[in-house]
Amino acid sequence: MKRAGLFVVGTDTGVGKTHVAAAIVRTLVTAGRRVGVYKPVASGCTTAADIASDAWQLWDAAGRPLTPEDVCPQVFAAPIAPHRSSRHAGREVDERLLRTGLDAWFSAADVVVVEGAGGLFSPVGAATLVSDLARDFRLPLVIVDAARLGAVGRSLATCRAAEAEGLEVAAVVLSHTTPPTGVVADPASAVAIARDSAADIASRLPTIPVAILEHAASRMPPGIDWAAIARC
Ligand SMILES: [Mg+2]
Repeated sequence: MKRAGLFVVGTDTGVGKTHVAAAIVRTLVTAGRRVGVYKPVASGCTTAADIASDAWQLWDAAGRPLTPEDVCPQVFAAPIAPHRSSRHAGREVDERLLRTGLDAWFSAADVVVVEGAGGLFSPVGAATLVSDLARDFRLPLVIVDAARLGAVGRSLATCRAAEAEGLEVAAVVLSHTTPPTGVVADPASAVAIARDSAADIASRLPTIPVAILEHAASRMPPGIDWAAIARC
């Protein structure tokens, strides 16, 4: 089966992965693709149908294909690492389901956007890191970082780590996780830091496209062919 898709991975938790993943999904939907969405495991919510959950936001962005439970088959309430959150609930993460849960989407969609949890080396099960899933899924990575000071160092660290793991990095996206303040003429403003960080990352990773996602944007800015990157 053809496996077209992208795996959205953060430099850390809380850097804007869901916002970026949903924006890529809407961009692909607008381009006429049937888009599947998958979040292997989530913590900090009680059901995938909770509209505040990552799963629901991805599902809604994709036009509500299949069910929220197909988007995220495993959710645990405590807002901590999934393998600890599951134990807090007296359960264990199903590490096989982390992987097999993706399969339904390849028959239901042209392209699948997967959102990881935390950073590249964050644990998603007792024996599984996000990087392990990335290797098994064989999807190009989109590395997401928050558009704030330190983005160059964080993004390069995750890209280099991914490459050392034998993973393909397809794009880097800096996401404005808060409304930017200040003026562009101020080099310390959030807008200028994002612009200059993106340029810096692009100059150091010349084969990898770099994008900036505005705080209120629902789609990716023009300039990157996301379907092509997803091998769709
Ligand atoms: Mg998220």
